[in-house]
Amino acid sequence: MPSAAVDIVRTVHDLREKVGSWRAGGLTVGLIPTMGALHAGHLSLVRAALDRYDRAVATLFVNPRQFDRLEDLAKYPRTEDDDAAKLAEAKAHLLYAPNVGEIYPEGYSTNISVSGVSAGLCGGDRPGHFDGVATVCTKLFLQSGADGAFFGEKDFQQLRVVQRFVRDLNIPIVIHPCPTVREEDGLALSSRNKNLTAEMRTRAPAIYNSLRDAAKRLLDGNAVEAVMAEGTDKIRSAGFEKVDYFELRDADNLQPLDSLYPNSRLFAAAWLGPVRLIDNIAVTNS
Ligand code: AMP
Repeated sequence: MPSAAVDIVRTVHDLREKVGSWRAGGLTVGLIPTMGALHAGHLSLVRAALDRYDRAVATLFVNPRQFDRLEDLAKYPRTEDDDAAKLAEAKAHLLYAPNVGEIYPEGYSTNISVSGVSAGLCGGDRPGHFDGVATVCTKLFLQSGADGAFFGEKDFQQLRVVQRFVRDLNIPIVIHPCPTVREEDGLALSSRNKNLTAEMRTRAPAIYNSLRDAAKRLLDGNAVEAVMAEGTDKIRSAGFEKVDYFELRDADNLQPLDSLYPNSRLFAAAWLGPVRLIDNIAVTNS
């Protein structure tokens, strides 16, 4: 039997009314911010929200402020009907899908900018990206009044940026990190994978495999600088045209590391044709 359709709201007013009525009735609410083109990674966040809260609210907004290239924004997949069907199947209670004018009305002038954890990695290569993320997430948290919000470790720097501004601005919401969901060959699920040709898709797992090899080499005691250079080379020789970064960082403050510490994490971003893929893993023996 097909699942009942998920309710969709498009305005702050309707979102507040719905979430407000649940919270007034003593129900708790978990938020899952997304840019749509939903896959099993997003749906794992919905499941995590349903496990912890009484109501799960997904958001779908392709946020123009977090794209530094208009071309990337234009080709971002938009599949709302399909997304709504997946959310219904996953038993989410509500989809908030505002248009751009609802989030950034005429005259909108405020920016949330997080220093420190935004520096380097995806912040270095994509100027303004994390300001866009922090700004839209601040708005989604304040618009919804949700109790908790769910973020994937696949976008680890984004997760740290969100945790930072929530703490700094005393926003009353709990941030829940969720593990990266992968294809069987290790490729992290991503809405951007849809833009890979079949040939590129066969090369794509090299990013994860190189991270895993690098973690092993570090744990075997090899020097960080040499292992980072090897990782970059491996990704290039798998057919990626450009490696934006391959780095070891502290998993909490995201400072670059030149030797291995207990809480170290590896991060990589690289281009296959027009598609930029990112991934990261913890460096542990387990
Ligand atoms: P996006 O739609 O790409 O902005 O992602 C929305 C949320 O889903 C973010 O918190 C992402 O980190 C999370 N997400 C995306 N891909 C995955 C994945 N493969 N596994 C777990 N979470 C993911």
